Amino acid sequence: MSGIDTLPPLREVIAAHGLSAKKSLGQNFLLDLNLTAKIARQAGDLTQADVLEIGPGPGGLTRGLLAQGARRVLAIEKDARCLPALEEISAAYPGRLTVINGDALDIDPLAHLTPPIRIVANLPYNVGTELLVRWLTPKEWPPFWDSLTLMFQREVAERIVAQPGSKAYGRLAILAQWRCEAHIAMSLPPGAFTPPPKVSSAVVHLTALPAPRFPADPQKLERVVARAFNQRRKMLRAALKGFAPDIEDKLIAAGIQPTDRAETVDLERFCALARLV
Ligand code: SAM
Repeated sequence: MSGIDTLPPLREVIAAHGLSAKKSLGQNFLLDLNLTAKIARQAGDLTQADVLEIGPGPGGLTRGLLAQGARRVLAIEKDARCLPALEEISAAYPGRLTVINGDALDIDPLAHLTPPIRIVANLPYNVGTELLVRWLTPKEWPPFWDSLTLMFQREVAERIVAQPGSKAYGRLAILAQWRCEAHIAMSLPPGAFTPPPKVSSAVVHLTALPAPRFPADPQKLERVVARAFNQRRKMLRAALKGFAPDIEDKLIAAGIQPTDRAETVDLERFCALARLV
């Protein structure tokens, strides 16, 4: 017994199923079920929600989500070695856990989920940012999910919540904060994981806003921001040279000095510029 449920402790599960961690799959497991229940709580009341979890591994966070009362959990795991352990969790929570063996980058989870949908995951570091960018840039807004509660390397988490004027401020901050409320909900030291990664981690919670904070065409905003931050040390009149006719006039019309650098320009002014180019 392990505290939050009647299943065996995770160390026993890992030993029983031979789940030695694979670096290539970003496997840094959370084995403390009190901690995984705490992470699940950061996602709010899950009793009326379907949860999408990417990379359940041996199932520590999955058990946290189910113990917190998640209506249903759809878990996508690439490593087939984890399936028997996940099957045991499924049996302990009948009808509430569905596991798909595959690559989260290739699987469309929507067919298996009923709104409201929340995404909660201790993401594999190698695909974490790519998945986040996909979830933040759907064709339609609001997206299929209501909130994201995601573990990242601390440095990535800081880039998501960064404010203008800081080194971490860039494309990811703008992408995330344009249409979401984003904050760091928890910080975790390397020792919270088995095996411990080299760096600290943090859980970021993002809530989808019903509409963007400021109007802008998503593709134009994306392009102008990518270009502006591509050479973040340069003044914007140089970084955006040739991006659009009369770029200096457009910068001024958007309330931006041509001598400003991208990292000092807030979201509202980037949106104004995207409307002008
Ligand atoms: N959720 C577990 C926990 O908190 O202990 C494991 C987290 S571990 C950081 C990342 C998990 O994602 C691993 O189980 C790994 O096998 C899985 N994974 C890696 N790449 C994946 C992918 N492309 N699609 C789905 N799962 C993946």
